Parts: sequence; structure tokens; C-alpha cells
Amino acid sequence: MKKTLKSLLIFFACVTLFGCTNEEIPKDETIQKEDIVYITKQITHSEAGGFFGMKTFMETATIENVTYCFEKSVSEEDRVYCIEQTSKLLENIDTGKDLTICIYDKTTYDNEYASDGFVYTSVRDWQSAEYLTVILRAIYGEYCNYGTAYGYANYLLGNTETSDLKFEADFEFYDLNDLCFHPNFATDEQIDIVKSISTAFVKEYIKTNGEESFIDILKASGDVKEIVKAKNALEGFYEKNGIKTELPTIIFGPGGEAFDYTVICEYASIYIIEDFIDTGASYYPEYTFFDGFLNNNYVKTMDYFIVNVEQMKKYQYHFGLDYYDNSLEIMFLNNTEFSIYFSRPVHQIRLNSIISFMHEYIHSVTMLDWTQETEKWESEGLAAYYEFLYNEYALPFWYYDRNNGAEIYGHTYILDYIEKSGRPVETVDDLRELDNIYSYLTRKHGLNYTYTSGASFISYLINQFGEREVLDYMLVHHSLKKLTDQTFDELVEDWKDFLEENYWEYGRK
Ligand SMILES: [Zn+2]
Repeated sequence: MKKTLKSLLIFFACVTLFGCTNEEIPKDETIQKEDIVYITKQITHSEAGGFFGMKTFMETATIENVTYCFEKSVSEEDRVYCIEQTSKLLENIDTGKDLTICIYDKTTYDNEYASDGFVYTSVRDWQSAEYLTVILRAIYGEYCNYGTAYGYANYLLGNTETSDLKFEADFEFYDLNDLCFHPNFATDEQIDIVKSISTAFVKEYIKTNGEESFIDILKASGDVKEIVKAKNALEGFYEKNGIKTELPTIIFGPGGEAFDYTVICEYASIYIIEDFIDTGASYYPEYTFFDGFLNNNYVKTMDYFIVNVEQMKKYQYHFGLDYYDNSLEIMFLNNTEFSIYFSRPVHQIRLNSIISFMHEYIHSVTMLDWTQETEKWESEGLAAYYEFLYNEYALPFWYYDRNNGAEIYGHTYILDYIEKSGRPVETVDDLRELDNIYSYLTRKHGLNYTYTSGASFISYLINQFGEREVLDYMLVHHSLKKLTDQTFDELVEDWKDFLEENYWEYGRK
């Protein structure tokens, strides 16, 4: 938008103020409030994840390709200053699209959010790199890497002087994502370093490769399919500065009003609520595993998502689900009302504990074409059976729970098992055994009594007929005849006999 302010003054020829005609407005002319014509409109603002939305009557004015929307209480002075400064910021940017900039009173909306062509924020410093960063995200992609956009904002503002950069091999924040600028994750000093690195990176990249190539990198940084290009560019910059680092290909972006931040990966968009309190913490206060690291510990948070994204990939591969469309939303929420579940109609997972991620994910990849008639042993049994497979975060908790929490639910059979084996519960196989023992003890309630009984039955089927065959039966053709000549009821009886034969000792009082 390489227009001077002169051409912005298109609505009212109130230029008599300066005693000259419209064409003769001096270059250093500032915009006057009388020049702006407002139309009142109801503006809807809703954020990704669907947990925040509002409708507000706002006064809107379109100047060139930018529509400004101000909440009524925003003063004339602030409005004029905003339009004037924003126009200046946009002078050197080829936006390539119309922009809508919505400015709220801080009491209505004290945040910032960008989506394709739209900026939502409150009255702020209109000359700041931070404000330009959110505009750049509205233009080039809302999930653009924060540091890359921020560095470019400084480049456009001519603020390219950086203090001496300190590159340290063990610096945690080289990814330059939103969390690296987040006061709950990084100290002020670390944020200053990240800002300097961002600015130096962009300056250096544009100097070497040109601005057009940089724009490609900026766009790639917010697109999960292209992010590897941005990652390579940033890794190249570090290598030149003597630092070898492997950056993730997961995007950490803004969370808007409802969430602390967003994580975008190949398989899902994940939203983390502010001050997430893991439900595990109330049941196991002494077990520090549930310490709420998702809102304050950068290294643990990065590890958690890197590991879980890798596990999602493994589960997809394991179930052979090429058709799966990955439009899944996953939310870490505090409201216990939401509890933990996967909702098929909206294709959304809601979690209240870090350890439930894979269980619900298995539901999401296995339940998609199942019907209302799908029984608990199938849906929950499958999730409970497979969550043992790739679950780096749940396994240590289960070990802890079985060895220390056995008495919580009066599960004395676990203590019996520990006593019998003469050692603590250790391996995945032990946990499978405990599933079978519990299923034996509750067998009279049938197959759909607990998740565990379903898992035990599936485990039995897999041992009898082979894993691929059982998965095909459960997920693909649903035809028992293709698996066995037995009836379903006969199979269930066989499973109960198996439990009886192997675990009868646990039934003794
Ligand atoms: Zn479940």
C-alpha cells in the first residue's frame, strides 16, 4: 500500500482548513477527524477453537483498502492516531488484500488476534513492532512464527540495530515461536535475547536472499506443510553463528482470548487453556508429574508436544488410516464439566489431563465411521488396549499409580499381584496382566462393564486370531464370520474361561 496520506483524505474536502484544495494538501499533512466518515456496523469476532466469540456495534470507516472498526468508546484522538500511524506502517507493504482492523476498548477485549485479513486488538502503541507484527500475521498467516514476523516488523520500521547477540548452545528459545516471547515461559532477559535474534535473523536473511524470498519463509513458518523451509532458513542462520540446533516442525501460535496458545501439527490443531490444572494433580498431589508445565515450562511443553505428535503419527500408521483427514481439534480445558472425551460429530477432543491425550486420540482415529450401536467394549476397549502401545506420558503415571495408588480404589488385587511377583509392577506386560485380573474379578458384569474388560477381551481376540485380522473385523468389515465360525457369545464365553483358567487364584478371599 504505497499511498501517501494525501490520497487517504478522500471523503470530505475539509481541506479549507489549510486554505488549499484537495490536490494541494502538503505532504506532512495529518489526517483530521472530520475527514473520516463512520458507518455503524455490528462486527463479529470469533476465534479459532470456537471458545470465544463476540458481536459488537462498531463505527467503521474504509480508507483505501483498510477498514477500521472502532468500538464507540474509543476516543476520536485515538482513532485518528491509529489510522494515521497504521497508514504509515502499511506504506511499504504490498498487502495484496483488503484489511480490517478492529480496535476495542481494553475493557471489552484486551488481547490481539489475527486471522486472514483481520486484526483484532485494543488501543495500544500504534508505532510498535508488536502492533505491526499482528498486522503482518493478518497479511501473511495468523500462525506465522512470531519471531520471524516480529523481526520483519523491526526491519520495516528501520529498527535493525541489535545488541551483541549471545548464542549459547543450550539456549532454549531458538525456535522464536510465541512461547519464546511469553512471560510465563521466558524471563525478560530471555525475551530480549529472542527479540534481538529475531531482528538479526530477518535482517541477515533479507540482505542475503532478498525480501521476496523472505516473505516466502515468513508464510512457510505458519503453514505446517511448508514449515520445514522456514526451519531450514532459521537453522542456517544459527549455523552461521556457530550453533547447531534442530528446530521442531510443530507450530506454536497465539491462543487469543480463550486460550493461552495454540499448537498446530500435521494431525490436529491443539488449544491450551490458561492456567491449565491437570485433574491428576488433585488425585495425586504428591506426584509432581501433573505440575501444570503446559503453561510455564518451555522445555517440558516442547517435549510433550514433540513426543505426542510423533505418537499420533505412529498410531495413524499402525491403524493404516490413510483416509483420515486430520481436521481434528484438541483442547486442554479446566472445566471439569467437559471432562475427557472425543466427540465424533464435531471431531473434537477435550482433555483435562496430560495423560489422556493418546487414549482420546485413538478414539478419534478409530471411531470415525462407527455407529450409535458401537458398544463400549469396542470403543473403550480398543482405546484401552492400544493406549499401552505409544504413550510416553501415561506409562510412567500408570507405573506410579499401580505401585502407589493401588489402595485408592480398594484395588487389593494389585497388592496381591505385587506380593505374588515379589517385585513392583514394572512393565507393559504387567499392566496387561492386571487388566486381565481385574476383568476376571468383574467378569459377572460382562464385557461392557469397564474399559478394562473390553481391552482384556480384545487382547484375547488378538492372541487367538492375530492383530490385523481383529483390526479388520473391528474397523473395516465388522463381519465376525470372516474371523471365526464361532458366534459372538461363544467367543465371550471362551474369554471368560481363559480368565478363569489363568487368574482363578485372585478370586480367593
Ligand atoms: Zn475412552
